[in-house]
Amino acid sequence: YSRIVLASRPEGRVSENNFRVESGILPRPAKGEVLARVLYLSLDPYMRGRMDAGKSYAPAVEIGETMEGRAVAEVLESNDPAFAPGDLVLGSFGWASHGVLPAAGLMRVDPDLAPPSTALGVLGMPGFTGWLGLEAFGRPQKGETLVVGAATGAVGSMVGQLARLRGLRAVGVAGGPEKCDFAVKELGFDACLDHRAAPDSATLRKQLAQACPDGVDVYFENVGDKTLEAVLPLMNVGGRIPVCGMIGWYDLGALGAGGGTGRNMLPLAWRTILVQRLAVQGFIITDHYHRFGEFLTEVAPLVRDGRIAWHEDVAEGLEAAPQAFMNLLAGRNFGKQIVKVAQ
Ligand code: NDP
Repeated sequence: YSRIVLASRPEGRVSENNFRVESGILPRPAKGEVLARVLYLSLDPYMRGRMDAGKSYAPAVEIGETMEGRAVAEVLESNDPAFAPGDLVLGSFGWASHGVLPAAGLMRVDPDLAPPSTALGVLGMPGFTGWLGLEAFGRPQKGETLVVGAATGAVGSMVGQLARLRGLRAVGVAGGPEKCDFAVKELGFDACLDHRAAPDSATLRKQLAQACPDGVDVYFENVGDKTLEAVLPLMNVGGRIPVCGMIGWYDLGALGAGGGTGRNMLPLAWRTILVQRLAVQGFIITDHYHRFGEFLTEVAPLVRDGRIAWHEDVAEGLEAAPQAFMNLLAGRNFGKQIVKVAQ
């Protein structure tokens, strides 16, 4: 049994030195518990926040503890009637090859519904986040215009495709020509702009203004930074901004120490919210799991018949997780980042 622990807290950018591989002996599953071997581990941007000390919406990972994470695993031994050896389950096994968890905290994964790894992506937490944020806080109306950053990622690709299905104009922002091409050709975005090619937010704003001739009604916030600064002045009266994440600023730490881009965006943001009567709503997906069934009912058939496309970036072997995670934070992943831990 091996696992990856948090060896030290990052100062700014995450590095290889923040992680350590350890091996050990697993405890036997007690009554009501299940022993499973991890097949697919999910890597997600929120893990960056867990590496910092201090209170966020969830506690930090302590130094020397296993890095947190959800995984699809195969039950090897079960001391609970709910599961039998061979069953596939979704649970918080962390960055580890195996785990022992209470059966009550596991969800069954149905391999006949879709490939099991999709329980971590398009049909799992990130897909659900895109669906919930758009429905509950984006409140999309036919004919409106939506902008979303990290457009080819696990969340952004769901948001853009759903917006198109609901009759909106969907404009993506993504890093690099390959991702932008994919967003338009494979995901059906009406347009996609490359934030890495734009030297500053003013340039990106001009490009966005052209791609959104009727202004922006919904900005689904995944990235912050240059993209946020470019979109704000284009928001229409009565616009909505579901605030899902701001990956462009995660290395600033919990309090945004250091000022990031060096500009104080607060006056611009605050004034736009007032003048354009915007509804800006932060949300954390764990508050909304009572709607997960509703999400699956709508989206699983769309995935099955190909109306919602999905894309994974698969790293091989548990030891590859730290590098794959650093790639994700730097935008070098292409689609939902998974680590294939075992066959
Ligand atoms: P992705 O698969 O989209 O991967 C992250 C992507 O972020 C990268 O590929 C990169 O794409 C983009 N990115 C990185 N740095 C920057 C930057 N400086 N500016 C613009 N884009 C950047 O991840 P997810 O789909 O899993 O997550 C998307 C967002 O949703 C994150 O902010 C995440 O924290 C948030 N989230 C929030 C949840 C909640 O409960 N509120 C739940 C789940 C996710 P590119 O190369 O295109 O720039």
